[in-house]
Amino acid sequence: AQDKEKTSNVAKIKVVVRKRPLNKKELTKNEEDIITIESRLNALTVHETKLKVDLTEYMEKHEFVFDAVLNEEVSNDEVYHETVEPIVPIIFQRTKATCFAYGQTGSGKTYTMKPLPLKASRDILRLMLHTYRNQGFQLFVSFFEIYGGKLFDLLNDRKKLCMREDGKQQVCIVGLEEFRVSDVETIKDLIERGSATRSTGTTGANEESSRSHAILQLVIKRSADGSESKPARVVGKLSFIDLAGSERGADTTDNDRQTRMEGAEINKSLLALKECIRALDNDQGHIPFRGSKLTEVLRDSFVGNSRTVMISCISPNAGSCEHTLNTLRYADRVK
Ligand code: ADP
Ligand code: MG
Repeated sequence: AQDKEKTSNVAKIKVVVRKRPLNKKELTKNEEDIITIESRLNALTVHETKLKVDLTEYMEKHEFVFDAVLNEEVSNDEVYHETVEPIVPIIFQRTKATCFAYGQTGSGKTYTMKPLPLKASRDILRLMLHTYRNQGFQLFVSFFEIYGGKLFDLLNDRKKLCMREDGKQQVCIVGLEEFRVSDVETIKDLIERGSATRSTGTTGANEESSRSHAILQLVIKRSADGSESKPARVVGKLSFIDLAGSERGADTTDNDRQTRMEGAEINKSLLALKECIRALDNDQGHIPFRGSKLTEVLRDSFVGNSRTVMISCISPNAGSCEHTLNTLRYADRVK
């Protein structure tokens, strides 16, 4: 009951939108910034330019409200403060939490997501050293990706992995490397190594990684009697998911068969994810995990005491208007 009290004041689902600044290319092309943000009201407006039948232009405004809306001046530290920081302490109270970065390719998902696990582990290690000193807590890191519906270990030369369920709603990824860590430097190295191992085809890193979901997990374990000698059991889990580019889900009509199949898988997984998060919020008994590999892998993070943070990343430029509206509508359905 005490644990419940400590965890209950952290929102079950939080939806945050982050807008990135116009980049050099967009500035050179004199592209317009079509997003205005009212941070204090957690509100955002997309100013869409549309054409009438006679080809004259008119503006259509689309307004949205989320749990937080972060403008282009907000730093990664502030993003951490707004999203993951409140969740870290409750990981020690048997909570499983997941933080997603959603958005089109180039909208800032990786820029946003990459620093978060390091900042979180810094806080986790601090708690283990002070609040939970000598209580036998241990921290583990794993990092893998889902590409075309298959799992690959990013900390073990992209070794192919498979998943097993143990009937108690625990997910086991067979052969996944899990590194026990006790200092920030080691974690930093692992994150760098894993990020560098993400799918990179002949077309260049960003192109290929946009078709995979990257999943970094921080797992807190503790042995039965709190000592180091006994085998440790999972207490809590914090997962960071850099999702595939949301526009890739539309690659289902591409001429290339491989691209088409990957697009279909991404589309399926993003739809299933939305349904699972919505089911969480409604406290429905049935959660539709079986829709995709992504949701199956995250199964144990959707049951019991769980928390979800969705960071929706958006590009500010007029050329991205349609994708931006799609991202915001997806986020709106989740919140
Ligand atoms: P994605 O992972 O969604 O494809 P990236 O994170 O790779 O997008 O971001 C695309 C580019 O924009 C990168 O060069 C990145 O450094 C830059 N960028 C993204 N978000 C921001 C931001 N908030 N501030 C400054 N630069 C950003
Ligand atoms: Mg990326």
